[in-house]
Amino acid sequence: METKAFQAESKKLLDMMIHSIYTHKEIFLRELISNASDAIDKLYFRSLTDDSVGMNKEDFAIRIDTDKDARTITVTDNGIGMTAEELEANLGTIAASGSLGFKTDNELGDDSQIIGQFGVGFYSAFMVAKRVTVYTRAFGAAKGYKWQSEGVEGYTIEETDEAPANGTRIVLELMDDTEEEGYSEFLEQYRIQGLVKRYSDYIRFPIQMEVSHRKLKEGTEDEYEDVISLDTLNSMVPLWRKNRSELTEDDYNSFYQEKFVDYMPPMAYKHVHNEGMPAYDALLYIPAKAPFDYYTREYEKGLQLYSNGVLIMEKCGDLLPDYYSFVRGLVDSEDLSLNISREMLQHDRQLKAISRSIEKTIKSELAQMLKKDRDKYAQFFEAFGTQLKYGVYADYGMHKDDLQDLLLFESSRGDKPVTLAEYVENMPEEQKEIYYASGASRAAIEALPQTETVLAKGYEILYFTAPVDEFAAKQMVSYKDKLFKSVTESALDLSTEEEKKALDEKQEENKDLLGEMSKALEGKVERVVLSSRLKSHPVCLTSEGDLTLEMQQVLNAMPTDKKVQAKVIMEVNPEHPVFAKLTALAGTDKVAKYAKLLFNQALLLEGMPIENPTEFSELICELM
Ligand code: ADP
Ligand code: MG
Repeated sequence: METKAFQAESKKLLDMMIHSIYTHKEIFLRELISNASDAIDKLYFRSLTDDSVGMNKEDFAIRIDTDKDARTITVTDNGIGMTAEELEANLGTIAASGSLGFKTDNELGDDSQIIGQFGVGFYSAFMVAKRVTVYTRAFGAAKGYKWQSEGVEGYTIEETDEAPANGTRIVLELMDDTEEEGYSEFLEQYRIQGLVKRYSDYIRFPIQMEVSHRKLKEGTEDEYEDVISLDTLNSMVPLWRKNRSELTEDDYNSFYQEKFVDYMPPMAYKHVHNEGMPAYDALLYIPAKAPFDYYTREYEKGLQLYSNGVLIMEKCGDLLPDYYSFVRGLVDSEDLSLNISREMLQHDRQLKAISRSIEKTIKSELAQMLKKDRDKYAQFFEAFGTQLKYGVYADYGMHKDDLQDLLLFESSRGDKPVTLAEYVENMPEEQKEIYYASGASRAAIEALPQTETVLAKGYEILYFTAPVDEFAAKQMVSYKDKLFKSVTESALDLSTEEEKKALDEKQEENKDLLGEMSKALEGKVERVVLSSRLKSHPVCLTSEGDLTLEMQQVLNAMPTDKKVQAKVIMEVNPEHPVFAKLTALAGTDKVAKYAKLLFNQALLLEGMPIENPTEFSELICELM
């Protein structure tokens, strides 16, 4: 018998498979089962239109057998089978299999990942087998054929009477275990059961295997025996293909907890059947709590990706934008072809379209929750809101329009966080801007000297307690044409024309004193001015330009060499007794000391560290 050589491309792929050090060798079973299922599909389809086939849906099955002594795994189907020509064409050349669309000159070695993630087909058997034998008989054919290969050297085809009545039986003789690699594990019943569950659970035909169960011997109380039964290993109908009306919340929740290993039921779920282009089914979940590593680099976003019920990718990151990275779940699409390499999949138009559609769904679900179940939404936002705020800030604010109405902020109005729309609705007629104040906590913000006047005017203030808040606001610039304004911004002026005039005059009168103070604080503040914004406090710090003190603190805490410096203005309350004292001291060397003291006090009120605590405490003692 003559041994035929594989075609060049097949040879290259085979070579790669055999020498693959890839850890996902296990996917060979998924590939063989998928092929068996395809073959059954073809015959089943024919039986629908051709009565002479004489087979019903219940007659079809895929069967797995293992033999520890012979070290073989056998996968048998009663599908359409192959003629001699088909055997030659399908298993002799990769071009016909269409499993991998890559070209001969593709650098496979660098990207062996593709083996794990996409349909690599029949040849993957050679990752675990030293010899593969295929017995097959095309439906209705008299003759059966045997194809055999030990890998790169080539293959043989001959007639046989050992082929199934119709369908294909594939026998893998496993490689010997070496120190580095074990193959015997694939002979274990639990391993096969696990692989079928993991990759092929939703194949539409039963995948059967003889499984031994330890059972109490009848008539005894403590004697056990092994009972062998032919079990179906897969659950066949994917939950997500079922009708929503057939399913209960419990079904969805327990599926989530089992599949995504969470001890808590999800906060929310959504079952999507998208009929249009692209057609896909999806199950989307929002976990009840952020995973412990959620805000770290280790956290990997992504949804499980299925093609027709077969798991292709455990975490497909391309399906979720970063700001929705908390969503867990899966997508199944018939439209996704398997014959694509990883790189092509990333640019795959269908995948992009699915991802866009999923993003829209998530957005509208969140908007719904916000509208219909505010408490739940607040709980959601507590867990994942920071991520949405980062989303506003990221990519130069590209997604802010999509996200701004999903944001919640604490505010001076009460304990419950508010949306931007609510804030704007609550604005008195004459209020032109959206006011915010940043600080470490609610209490710290409420203690800020600058909040007093704004609140006294009856204006609400958004409390930015998370570092990201202010960055997001800066990125948005405005909401519904109202500018975001920090209450610590020096340009913020809520006084009337008359008040302004009076202040200007006072400022002129005290020019020299303020000049002395500015000089004492050179390098720390741009200047010292009088202010009408203060009520009970003697001084406060404000900033000019885009960078506020709080942002300066956040940015400088980051591990970069470049430090930023906000333009700080010290504002003094001319109505405060301290100011009267200062005017009395004008021209003496005490002014500089008071200036430093007041500056440090203002820093403390802002929740900022003071530069030189020793000097500060000495100054206090001295002036006391
Ligand atoms: P793909 O499944 O992507 O086409 P494979 O390498 O998995 O690529 O299989 C190559 C071809 O071999 C299949 O397209 C099919 O025609 C044929 N084939 C493989 N396994 C079987 C089987 N169990 N029954 C019938 N045909 C099969
Ligand atoms: Mg295949």
